[in-house]
Amino acid sequence: MNLFNLEGRVAIVTGGNGGIGLGMCRGLAGAGASVIVAARNAEKGAKAVAELRESGGTAEFVQVDVDNEESCHAMVASAVEKFGRLDILVNNAGINIRKQPEEYDLAEFKKVIDTNLNSAFACCQAAYPEMKKVGGGKIINIGSMMSIFGAEFAAPYASSKGGIVQLTRALACAWAKDNIQANSILPGWIDTDMTKTARQVVDGLHDNVLARTPAATWGNIDDFSGIAVFLGSQASNFVTGTAIPVDGGFSIKG
Ligand code: NAP
Repeated sequence: MNLFNLEGRVAIVTGGNGGIGLGMCRGLAGAGASVIVAARNAEKGAKAVAELRESGGTAEFVQVDVDNEESCHAMVASAVEKFGRLDILVNNAGINIRKQPEEYDLAEFKKVIDTNLNSAFACCQAAYPEMKKVGGGKIINIGSMMSIFGAEFAAPYASSKGGIVQLTRALACAWAKDNIQANSILPGWIDTDMTKTARQVVDGLHDNVLARTPAATWGNIDDFSGIAVFLGSQASNFVTGTAIPVDGGFSIKG
C-alpha cells in the first residue's frame, strides 16, 4: 500500500497559479490527485495548468476571488462539476500590506483579513458538504512565521495568520466526527513574488533571513510539495489541528 497515493482524489489549491501554491499543486498532481488551480489571474493559471499537465498531471484552472463568498462556493461547485468530488482543500491565497500599525486605514486591515482568513473560512464552509459526501477530507491552511512571531510591519498579516492556526484547530475539533483532518503549514521565508516585494520594503530582510535560518537559505516553492502530499493523503489520517513549520529551522533558532 502506498500511503501517499492520491489517485482518484480531487484537490483545490487557492492561489495555485504561482508561488507556494504552485509548489503544492506540483506535489499533489505528482501523487495522482486531480488538481484545481484556483486564483484570479487566468493567464498565470493557464501556465500553471499547462506545466502540471506536461509533467503528466491532471489539472484545470478555476477563476476565483476568495474575498467573495459566492465565488468561493462557485469554485467548489466547479471543482465537483469538473472532477466529480472534492477531497482536499488548500487555503493558500494570501496578500500582505506592509506598514507601521499607525499608518494603516481600517479598509487595508480588513482587506488583508478578508483575503487571508475570512476566505479560508468561506472555502471550508463551501467544501464541507462535499467532503462529507465522500466520507472525509483534508483541509490544509497556510499560516506563516507570523502565526507565531510578531513583526512591526505586519499587524493585519500577523492577525490573519494567527487566526488561521486557531481556525484550523477549531475545524479539526468540529469536523473530526466527519473524518476531516485540518492542519496548517507555517512557511518560513520562501522566495516568491510576495517576498520579492518584502525584500524591497524591509531593510536588511534578505541577509537577516539567511543569518537566522539554520538551513542558511531561503526556501523555494518545491519545498511545499511533500508536506502537501503528506497532509493531503491517508499518511496523515491521525494528524489533525497541527501547525507544521516548513522553515529550514527558522522557528526553532534561539
Ligand atoms: P504569491 O506568489 O504572491 O501568491 C499568492 C497567491 O494568492 C497568488 O497565486 C494569487 O493569485 C493568490 N491570491 C491573492 N489574492 C487572491 C484573491 N483575492 N483570490 C484568489 N486568489 C488570490 O505569494 P506566496 O509567497 O506564494 O504566498 C502563498 C501563501 O503563503 C500566502 O498565504 C502567504 O501569506 C503564505 N506565506 C508565504 C511566505 C513566503 O515567504 N513567501 C511565508 C509565509 C507564508 P492571483 O493574484 O492570480 O489571484
